Amino acid sequence: MSRIDLLRVPLLGPFLGWRHTRTLLQALCLGLAVLIILDGLFGPQLAPRNLAGTLPWVHWRGFVVLALLIAGNLFCMACPFMLPRRLAKRFGPARWSWPAPLRSKWVAVAALILFFWAYEAFALWSSPWLTAWVALSYFALAFVIDGFFKGASFCRHLCPIGQFHFVNSMVSPTEVAVRDPDVCASCETLDCIRGRYDPETAAAHRSKQLARPPDAASGRALGLEGLVQGGCELALFQPRKGGNADCTFCLECIHACPHDNVGIVLRSPVQELIADEKRSGTGRIPRRLDWAALILLLTFAAWVNALGMTEPVFRLQAWIASWAGTGSRQFVLALYFVFGLIGLPFLVTLLTASASRALSSLHEPLTRTIPAYAPALVPVGFAMWTAHYLFHFLVGGLTIVPVVQEYLRDLGIAATGPPRWGAGALVPESWLLPIEIVILQGGLLLTLVAGHRIASRREPDRRSAGRAFLPWAVLATLLTGAGIWLLTQPMEMRGTFEAL
Ligand code: SF4
Ligand code: SF4
Repeated sequence: MSRIDLLRVPLLGPFLGWRHTRTLLQALCLGLAVLIILDGLFGPQLAPRNLAGTLPWVHWRGFVVLALLIAGNLFCMACPFMLPRRLAKRFGPARWSWPAPLRSKWVAVAALILFFWAYEAFALWSSPWLTAWVALSYFALAFVIDGFFKGASFCRHLCPIGQFHFVNSMVSPTEVAVRDPDVCASCETLDCIRGRYDPETAAAHRSKQLARPPDAASGRALGLEGLVQGGCELALFQPRKGGNADCTFCLECIHACPHDNVGIVLRSPVQELIADEKRSGTGRIPRRLDWAALILLLTFAAWVNALGMTEPVFRLQAWIASWAGTGSRQFVLALYFVFGLIGLPFLVTLLTASASRALSSLHEPLTRTIPAYAPALVPVGFAMWTAHYLFHFLVGGLTIVPVVQEYLRDLGIAATGPPRWGAGALVPESWLLPIEIVILQGGLLLTLVAGHRIASRREPDRRSAGRAFLPWAVLATLLTGAGIWLLTQPMEMRGTFEAL
């Protein structure tokens, strides 16, 4: 059955297929990033009155979860850090390979933990100045790393924002995929991964390189000389790629394929979670502990992050600080994140996987059980992120109006009138909880479907599949229940005047 291909949808298809679309989106985002940095460094330091205090923490996060939910990894597609990266590739040596011991998700896991902790410890959401410096540091890091290393090392191995998108886009309804596998089977150039070269260079490469496995021979690996169109920098070879993991939606493969054989197709949101075949670039995700750690971290972080801004947790942290005899909230925060992002996921996963194994017919080490079921938890985690970020977006979405008015007034443009500081909510307050509950329950449903199908694939019969799946179903249900409780707690209205 042929799948719906967005590149063949009128208007949308030609726009997505236009070779400058990505550069245009990146330039727009880069322009916004520059405005955010300038306002963060030189504008008013009251977060709700500053672009750096509102756009990244209220609007951008709302947009990215909506984009992941209804389309795919649109943030990486429009990522503003890509343009400086491209400059770095052009002018830097960009010829070292990323160190072999670091070719996994462990560095990214550490970077994410650091980011979640820093967000709360330095109250980044309330400091436009620090937000501006985080953005500048991000630009500098992407520039330096990709100036020295080949391929998309920063995106693939380090970028915390990228990892958030790689994991959560596993449930997105679209993916970049081949249209007709038979065309790939007879393809001789493999341009989607190697890139397209001018005819002379291409002939030289073909005679020397065609025997090499495609994964090891991305376009950048063959060199930039004579390169007309880059191939996949993430080492995802289209005929063996499966899903959105590690895909930045850069669309290079679409432009590189000489047979017009790559599209953006619609798919089931659980398809990628239950797949177990070896994929190009990522290998078998249900057998990789580093991917399991990344998924579990992002799942539990959804709760830890939201919980960190509720009244009961503030009171608990104050009580622990006084009980421990330390006046420092930083000490308690560090404990909170070590326990919430490392200790708790480790203990809960160990318990759940042990119960699942005890009830299953399989006799396998937990290091096989945990990565096998971890992908099923992506939907509940993503649902919690979505409910949380949409809450802030729906409560404070209109704050952008007075902030832009003030920004323009500071530049001497008064045409938009005095800032309307009362603007804020996008929907009535009574809508918020029902919307959040629907999202959480949708995530739970997808997790239950994916978990059951994983168990059915692994177990020899339906009864043992049901038993092995049960502990994971209980965990997902408890997480969803905890999410609903959490969203009914008094929460800081970050990015709005109610936070002050
Ligand atoms: S996607 Fe295009 S370039 Fe890549 S193998 Fe298939 S036909 Fe060849
Ligand atoms: S080139 Fe690679 S990262 Fe870019 S869209 Fe294609 S598969 Fe995804």
